[in-house]
Amino acid sequence: MTYLEVKDAMKRFGGLQAVNNVSFSIKKGTIFSMIGPNGSGKTTLLNLITGFLPLTGGKIRFEGREISGKAPFQIAHLGIIRTFQNGSIVKDATVLDNVMIGAYRYTKSGFWTGGFSTPNSRKEEKWIREKAKEVLKIVGLEQIANQPASTLPFGYQRLIEVARVLLSEPKVMLLDEPAAGLNDAESLRLGEAIKTINRELGITTILVEHHMGVVMEVSDQIIVLNNGERIAEGIAREISQNPQVIEVYLGR
Ligand code: ADP
Repeated sequence: MTYLEVKDAMKRFGGLQAVNNVSFSIKKGTIFSMIGPNGSGKTTLLNLITGFLPLTGGKIRFEGREISGKAPFQIAHLGIIRTFQNGSIVKDATVLDNVMIGAYRYTKSGFWTGGFSTPNSRKEEKWIREKAKEVLKIVGLEQIANQPASTLPFGYQRLIEVARVLLSEPKVMLLDEPAAGLNDAESLRLGEAIKTINRELGITTILVEHHMGVVMEVSDQIIVLNNGERIAEGIAREISQNPQVIEVYLGR
């Protein structure tokens, strides 16, 4: 069953057609990747799905209702949550505190605005702390939860960003080039974490990623974009053997 559907999406920037009539649908609980050369429209599609950019044409539906036209905070509230390229980490704060920032989506008793002064907010803080520890365990960082984020290698900092998104209990998690700047070993560890999250939490994941090893390893479905158009869709084996894909992307 279709969970998230992008239908005939169009995005123009002045005279540039950044996304041209792109359609795809994503099944619940799967890992869906978008690949393509620089400038092919991947980030623009993420921005269209999350409401950061308005569509020039087409529709986006989530759980059967149209979300195109909604503001980013409304879409986030529905459970579609993204990371950003180079998402910010507070280096002097601990790994755990950096992750707890992700809890904003469902706090009720003024955890962030009212300090920790009421019994309800103290209970909530404790609960969020426990949950943050759980997500740190899933991404493999529980041993270093109390270390300052600055002491971690760059590759681990990416996992903090992913854990932070997880704490907001997304239904759909969008990852924008999570392996950018990581070495091969770090990238593959990140890929493992993405698979573990999918297996243990069943969160639907949309991945934009250049590291082909990670994409091929984790994806249930892949679309390939070139110049704003969808040129191929399939499972890893089909994509890696598609001559058009090899020509525009893999063969570079
Ligand atoms: P990718 O993520 O695949 O590298 P993008 O979605 O970032 O590609 O960009 C697709 C095209 O749209 C590129 O030609 C880019 O220069 C252009 N573009 C992206 N964002 C904007 C913008 N805000 N204003 C004008 N052009 C943009």
